[in-house]
Amino acid sequence: MAEYKLREQATQRIRQGGALILVEDFVNQDKAQYLQEGDVIILQDSHKDFLGKFLVGRQNKGLGWIFTQSEYEYWDQELIEDRFREAVANRTHLFEDSQTTAFRLFNGEGDGIGGITIDWYANYLQINFYSYGVYKYLDEILSSLNNLSLDIRGVYVTLRFKHDEEESIFLVQGEHAPQPLTIKENGINYAVYLGEDWMTGIFLDQREVRDFIRQQGHGLSFLNLFSYTGAFSVAGAVGGALKTVSVDVANRSLERTKEQFQINEITPEQTTHEIRVMDVFDYLNYAQRHDLKFDLIVCDPPSFARTKKRTFAAEQDYRTLAEQIFQRVEMGGYAILSTNHSGYSLEQFRQDMIQATHSIPGQYHLIQQFGLPEDFPTTIDSVSQYLKVLVFYRQE
Ligand code: SAH
Repeated sequence: MAEYKLREQATQRIRQGGALILVEDFVNQDKAQYLQEGDVIILQDSHKDFLGKFLVGRQNKGLGWIFTQSEYEYWDQELIEDRFREAVANRTHLFEDSQTTAFRLFNGEGDGIGGITIDWYANYLQINFYSYGVYKYLDEILSSLNNLSLDIRGVYVTLRFKHDEEESIFLVQGEHAPQPLTIKENGINYAVYLGEDWMTGIFLDQREVRDFIRQQGHGLSFLNLFSYTGAFSVAGAVGGALKTVSVDVANRSLERTKEQFQINEITPEQTTHEIRVMDVFDYLNYAQRHDLKFDLIVCDPPSFARTKKRTFAAEQDYRTLAEQIFQRVEMGGYAILSTNHSGYSLEQFRQDMIQATHSIPGQYHLIQQFGLPEDFPTTIDSVSQYLKVLVFYRQE
C-alpha cells in the first residue's frame, strides 16, 4: 500500500478532525494527481508519522476523504458495515418516530465515509454516490446494508459524478417505490418520486426549518421563494397560514406543489395558495410595483442558477436579493434566508445579510440560526457544513 506525505497545514487540519483531502495537501502533488479512484492511501506527516487512511474518490469538493485515523482499521466490508451500524444506532429515535418516516440514514464524512450519502424514505433507500472511487464498492455497500436487519423494500442509486453508465439513477435492489411515495415528517405528508431524479421532491436537510415555519405559521401570509415542490408552503399551511404564495420558475413545480397540498387535505377554502411558475426576480419586481407585503418570507435559492434572463450566484448576488426581500416583509414579520452553498461561509453570509438589512428603514434582528439537523452530522471541514439558515425579525 502506497504511503504519502502531507504538508504541515494539512497535517494540522487532519489532527483536528478534518477529513477532506485535496491534491494541494500533498508534499508531492504531481504524484498525488495520478492516484487511482478507489485506492486506499496511507497518509503521513512530514516526520513520516501515521496520520490516517483515505479512499481516493474525486468529487468537486476534493480528492477524497479520510475514513480512519487508526492504523488498525482497514477499508473492507467490515469497516463499511460498522460505520453503517453506528449511523443506524444514532438514528434510533428517528426510526421509532411514527410521525417522521424519511430522514438521512448515512451522511458521508460526518458518519465516517465521505463521498456517499444514504436517505431513508419509508423503507426505500436512495444511495447517492459522489465519486467513482466509492461507487466501485457498491457490492460491499449493498451487502453491508442488507446485514443491518432493516426492512428495506427497494434501493435506488444515483451517480453524482461523471460516468459511463447508461443511467444516472436506477433501482439496484428490491421493488420500485410507488409513484408518488408518501412520506411523513413531523406528521406532515410529502410526496416523493424515487428513481426519477436525485432531487426526490423534498430536501431532507431542511426539516428543522419546515418545523419552525409550521410553528410560526399561524395566521400569517407567507411567501416561499424558489419553492420547488412547495414543501415550506405546505408546512406553513398546516401550521395555519392564511395565505401562501409559492414561486418557482420550473414548470413541474405547479403540479407537484398542488399535490403536496392535496395529500395534506388542505383545500383552497382553508388557505389561499397561489402557485406561480415564474422567475423569483420578476416576482419581486411585481410585488414591489404592487406594494405586496408578507408576514413571513422564506428564500432558499440554488447556489448557482441560470435562467434565460439572468444568472444568480449566491456569493455575489444574495445580498441584493435579500435587500429586495427585506422590503417585502411586514413590520413584525420574518424573513428566513437559506443557502446551501458550501463555498459561502457562515460568517460571510451572515455579514452580507446583516448589511442588507441596513439598506431598509426600520430595524431587523437576527433571531435564530439553523444549520444541518442531527441526521446530517458533519466534520470540521467547511464543505461539510454547507447549510446555513438565518431568521430575521422586522421590528414593529
Ligand atoms: N426551497 C425548496 C428547494 C429549492 S431548490 C425546498 O425546500 O423544497 C431550488 C429551486 O429554485 C428549483 O426548484 C429551481 O427550479 C428554482 N429556481 C432556480 N432559479 C430560479 C429563479 N430565477 N426563479 C425561480 N425559481 C428558480
